[in-house]
Amino acid sequence: MRILVTGGAGFLGSNLCDRLLADGHEVICIDNFFTGRKSNIAHLLGNPHFELVRHDVIDPFKFEVDQIYNLACPASPPHYQYNAIKTVKTSVMGAINCLGLAKRVRARVFQASTSEVYGDPAVHPQPESYWGNVNPIGIRSCYDEGKRVSETLFMDYHRQNDVDIRIVRIFNTYGPRMHPDDGRVVSNFIVQALKGQDITIYGDGLQTRSFCYVDDLIEGFVRLMNQTETIGPMNLGNPGEFTMLQLAELTLKLVGGKSKIVFRPLPNDDPKQRRPDITLARKILKWEPTVQLEEGLNRTIAYFKTQI
Ligand code: NAD
Ligand code: UDP
Repeated sequence: MRILVTGGAGFLGSNLCDRLLADGHEVICIDNFFTGRKSNIAHLLGNPHFELVRHDVIDPFKFEVDQIYNLACPASPPHYQYNAIKTVKTSVMGAINCLGLAKRVRARVFQASTSEVYGDPAVHPQPESYWGNVNPIGIRSCYDEGKRVSETLFMDYHRQNDVDIRIVRIFNTYGPRMHPDDGRVVSNFIVQALKGQDITIYGDGLQTRSFCYVDDLIEGFVRLMNQTETIGPMNLGNPGEFTMLQLAELTLKLVGGKSKIVFRPLPNDDPKQRRPDITLARKILKWEPTVQLEEGLNRTIAYFKTQI
C-alpha cells in the first residue's frame, strides 16, 4: 500500500514510518518540523519507498494513498501550550484536511487521539465509554478540546460521508526518538539523571500515569488500522500505573549518578490519575503491551546516552 503519515518526523511518527516500510509499504511523510526532527528520519531519506514533504497540515494536501495515519500535533504540554491557537488549528484543520483527502481518494484514515479526552478522570481506570472530565477554558484545553473535536469530525465524516475511519486513544508513550527537550516526564527525568541535574517533580509526585513503550504502541496502531471489526475509539496503553515519585526513583536507580529529587509547582489542570482499560484492545486486536517499564526505560536510557 501507499501510506501517508502526518507528523512522520516526530517521535511516534518516525517509529511508525520504520514499521510501515519494514512491512513492505510505500510511505509519504509530511511534517512541518515544529517538534519533529530530520534526524528521526535521516536514515530513511535514501530509501526509494520513502518520501518526505515539508508541509503544514492546516493547509490542504493531496496524495493518492490507500491509508492515512494522522499524527501531526505537538504532544508535550510545554510545546502544545507554546502557541495554543496553532495547536487547535493543527488538530481541527489537520483532521478536516485528512478526512477530506480520505473521502476523495477513498483511503482509510486513522486519528491519533489521546487519553487527554478523559481530562482529569473521575472514572478509574478509563474505559472508552467514559465521556471524560475536561476543562474547556484552561491551559490544557487547546490540546484536549482540539483532540475531542477531531474525534467528533472523524465520527461525523464516517456517519455523513461513509469515510473509513479508525480512532485510537493513546496513553502516555515513551521511547527512542523522543526529543531531549520534549518536556514530557520520561524524557525529562532521564535527561536530568544523565546530566546529573535535579529531577523535577511537579506537585507532590503522587499523581499517576501509565507508561507504554513505543514498540508496543506501534504494534497496536497497525493492528487497529488493519482490522474491520471496529472503528474505535480504542484505548492503547500500558495498564501498569506509577506515581511520578516512583518513576523518578526508578529512573535514578537505572541511570545511577548523583541527581537529587526536587519538587516544583504543579501546572494547572494536571490530571491526578490515569490508567487505560484495554479490555477492547485485548478482545479485538488480541493486543497487550509486552515491554514493562523497567525494560522500556533501559532501552530509552540507552538511546538518550547517544543524544546528549
Ligand atoms: P511529537 O511532538 O514528537 O510529534 C508530532 C509531530 O507532528 C512532529 O514531528 C511535529 O513536527 C509534527 N507537527 C506538529 N504540528 C504540525 C503541523 N501543523 N503540520 C505538520 N506537522 C506538524 O509527538 P508524538 O508523541 O510523536 O505524538 C504524535 C501524535 O500522537 C500526536 O498527534 C499526539 O497528540 C498523539 N499522542 C501521543 C502520545 C504520546 O504519549 N506520545 C499520547 C497521546 C497522543
Ligand atoms: N511531570 C513532572 N516533572 C516533569 C515533567 C512532568 O513531574 O519534569 C509530571 C506532570 O506534571 C504530569 C506527569 O509528570 O503529572 C506527566 O506529564 P507529561 O507532560 O509527561 O504528560 P501528561 O501530563 O500530558 O500526561
